[in-house]
Amino acid sequence: MGGELNFKQEIVGVFGHPVAENPTQAMVEAAFRHHGLDWRYLTLEVGPDDLADAVRGARAMGFRGFNCTIPHKVAVIDHLDGLGESAELMGAVNCVVDRDGRFIGENTDGKGFLSALTELTTPDAKRFLLFGAGGAARAIGVELALAGAAAVTVVNRSRSRGEELAALLSDRTSVTADFRPWEGDFRIPAGFDVVVNATSIGLYPDTDARLPLDIHTLDPSMVVADVIPNPPRTHLVRDAEAAGCRVIDGLGMLVNQGVLGIEYWTGVTPDAGVMRGALEEVFRA
Ligand code: NDP
Repeated sequence: MGGELNFKQEIVGVFGHPVAENPTQAMVEAAFRHHGLDWRYLTLEVGPDDLADAVRGARAMGFRGFNCTIPHKVAVIDHLDGLGESAELMGAVNCVVDRDGRFIGENTDGKGFLSALTELTTPDAKRFLLFGAGGAARAIGVELALAGAAAVTVVNRSRSRGEELAALLSDRTSVTADFRPWEGDFRIPAGFDVVVNATSIGLYPDTDARLPLDIHTLDPSMVVADVIPNPPRTHLVRDAEAAGCRVIDGLGMLVNQGVLGIEYWTGVTPDAGVMRGALEEVFRA
């Protein structure tokens, strides 16, 4: 028999609660198989009271890192050894990476959005209209600011959360940021290059829900992006296509944040097409 026997895989995974319906494993393990990586991605149910023990367990068992999803993205920070720049600004971590024995918290949500965006346009000197001020919007807003966007206007249902995000961007980055209230169907003022839905409107099972938006104010010069991964073809995506805009769907962000996580953990840049295909299969089923 040739070669050394090795039955020990490298382990990564996701901690969440509830987590059973999170499809990341299908996407990440498709990439591991495609690239011949003997790694496993475990979907792990971890309640809030068990997070500290789960992170200790991950260290003890030599996990190479892990994703965090609801409700752990903020709470996990107390159990880590350091933070990347954008995770520190956002105060949220979705991807933990073992770097020389230290667990470092990164945030790949906004970076994944940015990679999807740069397939169509650069953020450089562009003006962004950002609907939403929750976790996804914070991640996107911070990365856009760090990537050289000229301006980010936050539109959000609850004023306090929207103003808080605009203030974070103005105070901690060099972008020009402001907040506008969301009353009735929002009319997009002239001058915006990119419109982003970072709210949860349209997410399965509420697939008929529409963004309160006057779609006649969508201009063909705009890029329109939606974070909703399921279903990828939201009303906004379809309305924007009909208006002649270039469009990015929520699978683009989901796949690209997964690409970055795999790069951080394994050093291999995985095939995004294979990962998107695995997710499309999950959402078709
Ligand atoms: P949060 O709960 O943190 O934020 C939700 C946001 O949506 C808030 O701004 C909230 O406004 C707004 N919102 C929700 N319902 C309505 C409504 N009926 N009318 C107006 N505004 C509404 O969630 P996240 O930011 O974590 O997630 C948002 C979406 O992003 C989810 O659908 C999630 O699936 C998606 N996502 C996609 C990713 C991807 O890779 N594609 C990655 C991460 C998230 P308010 O402040 O007023 O409550």
